[in-house]
Amino acid sequence: MPTRYDLDRDALADLLTGEPRYRVDQVWDGLHRQLAEPSELTALPKALRARLDDELPAALTPVAESTDRTGETVKWLFELAGGARVETVLMHYRDRTTVCVSSQAGCAMGCGFCATGQAGFQRQMTTGEIVEQVVRAARRSRQDGRRLGNVVFMGMGEPLANYDRVWPAVERLHRDLGLSARHLTVSTVGLVPGIRRLAAEDLPVNLAVSLHAANDALRDTLVPVNGRYPLSVLMGACADYLRAKGRRLSFEWALIDGTNDRLSDARELAELARTLPLPAHVNLIPLNPTPGYATRGTPRDGVELFRRRLDDLGVNATIRRNRGTDIDAACGQLAAKVELRRRPAG
Ligand code: SF4
Repeated sequence: MPTRYDLDRDALADLLTGEPRYRVDQVWDGLHRQLAEPSELTALPKALRARLDDELPAALTPVAESTDRTGETVKWLFELAGGARVETVLMHYRDRTTVCVSSQAGCAMGCGFCATGQAGFQRQMTTGEIVEQVVRAARRSRQDGRRLGNVVFMGMGEPLANYDRVWPAVERLHRDLGLSARHLTVSTVGLVPGIRRLAAEDLPVNLAVSLHAANDALRDTLVPVNGRYPLSVLMGACADYLRAKGRRLSFEWALIDGTNDRLSDARELAELARTLPLPAHVNLIPLNPTPGYATRGTPRDGVELFRRRLDDLGVNATIRRNRGTDIDAACGQLAAKVELRRRPAG
């Protein structure tokens, strides 16, 4: 059965066959612009509300919710049909509100430092499941007196490995939730064919490439897909994306102690960034400890040193404020913890 946001407008019109034509607009607008549940659409007859509730169920069942001490970060663990679990993180900053959404349950990319990657792939998320994460976050933002303006596809999964469902979700967020393309960011660990498809789309979204290493030997060990799309090929696709879109490109760099935080790593990264037609921005990610995994994140002063080194080399870098210190904000972590709790002790 399709869930609430799985239907496109034509499918909704089919579902509402026999109702006056304006009902399609009313329901569509209610779900997307008003962020309403069917039961809240009081302009509709009661019987229709009940029918929509029944025939368009929510896709996401909340399993856990954690809020940090300041109330600025809310993290949800949702269960999907079939039992897979994904996470969504809402972050209120001083000047903006951003939600980080998942695009797959689990992930097949197998990055060694990532709890999700270690747990493996479960299934693709549907367009409706992706959109509903944003709608729920937007509702929560409204309750908090904020307006959700930014969406980043940086939660569980590799968005470009689920392109055919992710892209319609991006279009829906833009067209029906009214989010500007410049505030939508799709991340990838480096799936070159997906980057090329993205470059051919009309909407100029931001691209974030999870780089983590700037030479092939190291990147092969951290990000296995590098074997298929080595750095020279990846940088070629990034350069073409920049030429096609003129949009911001960022590199994500999770700092791992003694592995990719040395002066030589900063130099290689700066050299790579110089090959692009526009300057790339580097987001440095302090790595949270992953349960059951030995990789150690770079200590705080090492993170700052790496940023300064990049700065000296002419590369603009920001340290991603670690929202996970008291609520587990790194990729895959809440899911991993809940899974651990569910297992019988011993
Ligand atoms: S870091 Fe991202 S791409 Fe790599 S395994 Fe984790 S979720 Fe997948």
